[in-house]
Amino acid sequence: MRLLIDNARVWDGTGAAPFAAKVLIEDERIAALVPQAETLTAAEGAERIDASNKFLMPGMIEGHAHLSFVDVARGTQLGELPPEEHTLLTMDAARKLLGAGFTSACSAAAAKIRLDVAVRDAIESGLIDGPRLLAASPELTVTGGLGDGRRLHLHQESFGIAVDGADEMLRTVRLCLREGVDIVKLNISGDTGTESAPNEATVMTDGEIAVAVEAVHGIGRRVAAHARASESVKRSVRHGVDIIYHCDFADSEALDMLEGVKDRVFTGPAIGLVVNRMAQLRGDNTPQGRIFLERLKPLYEATCRTHAEMKKRGIRIVVGGDYGFAANPQGTNARDLEHFVTHFGFSASEALQAATRTGGEIMKRGHELGQIKPGYLADLLLVDGDPLSDVRVLQDKNRFAFIMKGGARYTPCNAAPHIRRVEATPPA
Ligand SMILES: [Zn+2]
Repeated sequence: MRLLIDNARVWDGTGAAPFAAKVLIEDERIAALVPQAETLTAAEGAERIDASNKFLMPGMIEGHAHLSFVDVARGTQLGELPPEEHTLLTMDAARKLLGAGFTSACSAAAAKIRLDVAVRDAIESGLIDGPRLLAASPELTVTGGLGDGRRLHLHQESFGIAVDGADEMLRTVRLCLREGVDIVKLNISGDTGTESAPNEATVMTDGEIAVAVEAVHGIGRRVAAHARASESVKRSVRHGVDIIYHCDFADSEALDMLEGVKDRVFTGPAIGLVVNRMAQLRGDNTPQGRIFLERLKPLYEATCRTHAEMKKRGIRIVVGGDYGFAANPQGTNARDLEHFVTHFGFSASEALQAATRTGGEIMKRGHELGQIKPGYLADLLLVDGDPLSDVRVLQDKNRFAFIMKGGARYTPCNAAPHIRRVEATPPA
């Protein structure tokens, strides 16, 4: 397959200004990128796409995906889905995410041990369409922690696995690793926004965290943490956790610690759920609704303050997170770029870099994902509009002339299966 994308306005993911250029794709990779005025003899005989007046950028990367969170109102509802139906719905979410312009996704937890693993492998083998996926374990939590929505005497499954003590942690981590996860997720703190653990207190012990990190790192995989409280951020850094999500209430000591490991660690706010829940609750005049809204306000204020500060300190922040709830459905992930601009003070270019170049790095594939460069994988979006003047154009699927993953072109559809593969037309 040889394809010339001619006369596009190319934004390469580095933060440099866009420039008129032609890009040659050969099979799954970018073979050449040259200024439009230059001749490109290597492109002779290739299929040509006229990209005049269009914006070409790297495919977006979701840094905190939950593909098996299938737009439920409450997390415990994920425990009511049998594995067969749950797998089909996860596969559907994968196609939705690709159709929304996200060509890669780093999972921040599955709702059952093998859901991400099976869907990752099915995408990788070409059986189903979806973004390149790093598979995560379910959220390993403590009894009564975030993700343990069980109730005594009631049969109630949940989306997290409750483990208590180092031995139980080690056994469960090894089970997840055996089943093929790339990332083990630990809920080190609770969460203000939930019913099961309705405050952000740090609940996972040093001993539990240490044994998990040792086992995961021992075979070269990574640990991600749900860490809202300052102490949970500090424990994550001290024990060598690789991806530390949320960090909302990080105090100056925690921020210093994060800054000290900024070349090793990634963070991601997952602000979409907080913003959307608050918008929903503003229209809810029940006493519970008003109480919940009051509880979320300090979380929102803390997350805005902390992420503006983290950006200043050069700590890597990824876009996305916690899409897969009724308030924050799968496929609307590009709204996160707008949130970064509105709530954290990112420029459009900085939000786009968080969604592309930094995303490539969290995938551990910064050498071939997240930028437009010769040799990189051809994961590209051709956009009718200018995301640098308004990042919201990326929320409109109809603006994608194509979504390309590994040289394969897709157009988004407005109904399931959410994307349609475009066959290459042979050159004239
Ligand atoms: Zn999450």
